[in-house]
Amino acid sequence: MSAKPPDHVAYVALGSNLGDRLAYVRGGMSALGETTGVCVEQASQMRQTAPVGGPSGQSDFLNAVVSVLTSLDAVELLDVLQAIEDRFGRQRRERWGPRTLDLDLLLYDDAVIETERLVVPHPRMHERRFVLEPLCDVAPAAIHPVLGLTARELLERLP
Ligand code: ATP
Ligand code: MG
Ligand code: MG
Repeated sequence: MSAKPPDHVAYVALGSNLGDRLAYVRGGMSALGETTGVCVEQASQMRQTAPVGGPSGQSDFLNAVVSVLTSLDAVELLDVLQAIEDRFGRQRRERWGPRTLDLDLLLYDDAVIETERLVVPHPRMHERRFVLEPLCDVAPAAIHPVLGLTARELLERLP
């Protein structure tokens, strides 16, 4: 039996605003790259951004995006992302609350997925500068399959 080729392209957003943020974001990237069936291709710059939504008084975030090539399907990739979040001590207390590491699947090929557990494209990616700026570092021409616009066009359309 041969291994499946890593022929799916996905983009993953990383964010941290609790503890050693840089170590969490870097650690998340490394953990992803060490996962069987996942190859991290490119990483964006790290950006520090003020929190959007959630409880007041949270610290700033460090945000980044990586592009990956993977043989995993989208749900398997989400499993991997959530296992890494758990490994880095992510607690799920309140929505949009402070977190050591958040890993969100932004795009997976040109798939459109709407299940209870997984929505792709990520439902809020197109309204978030802290996602679109780093996504444009790695893939300005990546197309949002529902809106039919590139990452660059989505960023330019932000208010
Ligand atoms: P947001 O989704 O607005 O960025 P969040 O990242 O803080 O908020 P989480 O607590 O990380 O939200 O995730 C809540 C749930 O979202 C998870 O249980 C997961 O199953 C679901 N989910 C749906 N679509 C996605 C996706 N594309 N990437 C990651 N999680 C997703
Ligand atoms: Mg998130
Ligand atoms: Mg998340």
